[in-house]
Amino acid sequence: MVQKYFLNKSGTTTIHCPSCKEARRVQSKNGSKKSYALRVRCSCNHIFKIEIEHRLQYRKKVNLSGEYKKLDERDNAYRHCMIQDISTTGIALLYLDSFKPSPEDIIEIKFSLDDRKRSRVHKKARIIHVNSEKKTLGAEFIESYNTNEDKNIYFYLSQN
Ligand SMILES: [Zn+2]
Repeated sequence: MVQKYFLNKSGTTTIHCPSCKEARRVQSKNGSKKSYALRVRCSCNHIFKIEIEHRLQYRKKVNLSGEYKKLDERDNAYRHCMIQDISTTGIALLYLDSFKPSPEDIIEIKFSLDDRKRSRVHKKARIIHVNSEKKTLGAEFIESYNTNEDKNIYFYLSQN
């Protein structure tokens, strides 16, 4: 299984050694326009293969029904929301009720991708920005509950 990484705007990405989990920064090959594979030797001596996706992180417009809750709330019920876009690192969603989100709040989100497998996504995310007029918020993923879901999201984003 080759791990796929997307470059950020500065042309770098942070990769993780599958053996010791050490993080390191990788710079894109100058002028490369396509994705390419790379062999990396970690300081722990583990050698692994990664794929660098050269285009900027892809964000996909979607319209997916989902559920979310604030993690520190006493009322532990999930609320309904609509996922508006998704990337490998986060989502934007439309919240539909009297929820009062603030930046830095941690939420738990559950939804299914509209891929063939209807892949379930269940993540913890940190709210980055809120638009209380439009009732939208953007959040970055900080933790997964399901194994394979990041792979499913990569695959989902690389379609079409
Ligand atoms: Zn390592």
